[in-house]
Amino acid sequence: MRDPNPPAPDFAIEARGLEKTYRGDRKNPPKQALKGIDLAIPRGSFFGLLGPNGAGKSTFINILGGLVVKTGGRASIWGVDIDADPRNARGAIGIVPQELNMDPFFSPWESLEMQAGFYGVPKAERRSEEILKAVGLWDKKDAYARTLSGGMKRRLLVAKALVHAPPVVVLDEPTAGVDVELRRQLWEYVKTLHAQGVTIVLTTHYLEEAQELCDTIAIINHGEVIACEPTPQILRRLDKRTLVIAPQQEFATMPKGFEDLDPHLRADGSFALNFRSADHTVESLLDRVKAAGISIRDLKTEEPDLEDVFVSMTSAPR
Ligand code: ADP
Repeated sequence: MRDPNPPAPDFAIEARGLEKTYRGDRKNPPKQALKGIDLAIPRGSFFGLLGPNGAGKSTFINILGGLVVKTGGRASIWGVDIDADPRNARGAIGIVPQELNMDPFFSPWESLEMQAGFYGVPKAERRSEEILKAVGLWDKKDAYARTLSGGMKRRLLVAKALVHAPPVVVLDEPTAGVDVELRRQLWEYVKTLHAQGVTIVLTTHYLEEAQELCDTIAIINHGEVIACEPTPQILRRLDKRTLVIAPQQEFATMPKGFEDLDPHLRADGSFALNFRSADHTVESLLDRVKAAGISIRDLKTEEPDLEDVFVSMTSAPR
């Protein structure tokens, strides 16, 4: 017999060599969306899955949720292999999907009760009232879903993902198109869940959001995990800025003396100096430029495009 209370696993989610190739059709060639993902998400973490659009984040989440069938590798949720025991694996995870797809004819109360029935939660153990109150939808419990605002619908999706009290909750790009106030409310609630011991996985393409909330961040790009580290460590790696100087004079080549700053002479005659704010200040760089006898006509700093950073991380030796 299965142990009804197995010990909590070290990892809430574990993926080894996870692959997905979407079959092509007459118009589209096959697409390898995941190229062997290895990821171990520690139990109790607030984990960020960060990557640009098209990186494969949703594909990964949807494999865990059973909406997409993997084409290679393996994955387990709360220590349960998704192939060997899909029912129990899925019972351990609650996924808040990206899209606001819901049945317009059911009230929040009915939606939650149906979802609980779907997961086989006995009536005595249902927590629909508690959950609706927690997400601020108790006064709307009997309203038709189609009459709810966008923000309320999103909260209902969060509520639906929680009916079976999963130890792992995944939020797939939860703040796309969400206003600031709702976003704040959502985070407050998610933080409460986390404080109660729930492992939270958040997918996002906003570094800022991941940085604010997550203790560990994995970066995924073109279907591969290119980094997975505690947040402060990742931030140090992402700390790249560029100082662009338009000189008064014209230079045919980049003046000497800036080799440590990966300098580039741009087509418009300006210099781009790359630096980490942990190592240099703009002021100290300007002093060096002036000391080199260069008069500055104009200047600006550039923050990195995340996409560029991902590319440089993929190509940089690790
Ligand atoms: P993300 O969530 O990081 O934006 P996705 O997992 O949605 O990335 O997509 C990863 C890649 O797989 C993209 O190139 C996307 O176009 C492709 N893709 C996603 N879903 C499908 C599908 N159903 N059929 C074919 N290609 C898909």
